[in-house]
Amino acid sequence: MTTPAHRTGLLGELVCSNSLKSLEASNAHGLLKAELGALGSLVVSVAGNCAVPAGKALAVDRLLFARTITESITGHPNIRVVPEERAGIPEAPAVVASGPLTSDGLSDALAGLFGAAHLFFYDAIAPIVSAGSLDSSGLFPASRYSGEEGDYLNAPLDREQYYSFIDSLLSARRHQPHGFEEGRYFEGCLPAEVLAERGRDTLRFGLMKPVGLVDPLTGKRPYAVAQLRREDRAGSMYNLVGFQTQLAQPEQQRVFRTLPGLGRAEFLRYGSMHRNTFINAPRLLSENLEARTRPGLFIAGQLCGVEGYAESAAAGLVAGLNCLRVISGRPPAVPPEETMVGALCRYVGRGPLSGSYQPMNANFGLLPPLGTRIGDKRLKGEALAARSLESLKEWMSGLS
Ligand SMILES: Cc1cc2nc3c(=O)[nH]c(=O)nc-3n(C[C@H](O)[C@H](O)[C@H](O)COP(=O)(O)OP(=O)(O)OC[C@H]3O[C@@H](n4cnc5c(N)ncnc54)[C@H](O)[C@@H]3O)c2cc1C
Repeated sequence: MTTPAHRTGLLGELVCSNSLKSLEASNAHGLLKAELGALGSLVVSVAGNCAVPAGKALAVDRLLFARTITESITGHPNIRVVPEERAGIPEAPAVVASGPLTSDGLSDALAGLFGAAHLFFYDAIAPIVSAGSLDSSGLFPASRYSGEEGDYLNAPLDREQYYSFIDSLLSARRHQPHGFEEGRYFEGCLPAEVLAERGRDTLRFGLMKPVGLVDPLTGKRPYAVAQLRREDRAGSMYNLVGFQTQLAQPEQQRVFRTLPGLGRAEFLRYGSMHRNTFINAPRLLSENLEARTRPGLFIAGQLCGVEGYAESAAAGLVAGLNCLRVISGRPPAVPPEETMVGALCRYVGRGPLSGSYQPMNANFGLLPPLGTRIGDKRLKGEALAARSLESLKEWMSGLS
């Protein structure tokens, strides 16, 4: 069974970039791969053997990678590959990992099992920035119509700042959609740049409207605001509310850093809008990726709401491990919350603090904060990674 994006019929085909992102120990993606390596991930070990020079990233010879994965799986004595479309949900115990382009028949079956309202076909991802990278002097905390401080951070813009922001948004380079994605937007969930194209004031009366907000610095209502909403309980990540976008990633940095308080914003997740089948996992799955209403059925990969090659492999590994544990009568097991794999599973099982559930990639904002404050970004990343790998080791040694 193939999809409009896959071409070769091989397992493990990388449909777009041949990079599994950073290998650096101080980087969230590097940590995820280090953990996957420690957990014995086939994807990471084959990627290491098929690597091509790519600086500090792990990029692979994509054909060699897919061939090696295919050989490892088809050659395994306990695996039988059936290259057909599966239109129904398999009997539990089972893992469903049919990816962002899940076929129509299986999508219908998933909608039947979970309810159509809990199955999504497009993501609409707004960028997430780290709290520590924000400049609070440019922001004020407030909720609309509330005199109190409130839950949002607001970046106030005057007239000149607003139109200059709109100009950079409109002139920014966009990610080119794939053929099967073009023009398919939902009216209620349009990219910010598409809204801005409808009129230079559209955002000012929509997602950047200033009503109910008074800037304490001026005592006045700003001309427009960009709102940031807390994404996690620890308050380490903020979501740029309503700014789902198809701008290229470097352009997101350039454009959104022009907003007050965001001049040095560190992007933990970039905005995007893709054709992407995924379920409303926080309502449907436990942190071990098992369906709450169908014991023994696990949902993994992009379908459960993680985003990226390595993240999908991580979810697959946890779902596979737990499926095996169900078969052998053992309790579920999820790596600790200090690990990137464990943090991703917790995000899947719990979702964001507020707002809609959208796919998530590996980032340090998912991990519980360190006990001590480390200002240097690289040293902080290294400390988080060291804590994670230590706790993963301990968890693995206690695993029965
Ligand atoms: C066009 C595109 C480009 C992407 N580019 C990147 C990128 O550059 N970097 C990145 O990190 N991530 C990228 N992603 C996200 C990427 O899909 C995931 O990161 C990862 O491949 C998802 O892994 P998965 O195992 O969940 O799904 P997949 O890798 O898609 O595997 C799912 C498999 O299930 C099969 N399938 C679907 N329905 C059925 C059915 N009914 N019966 C039997 N088999 C079925 C599919 O044919 C597919 O082979 C991209 C996604 C798309 C769609």
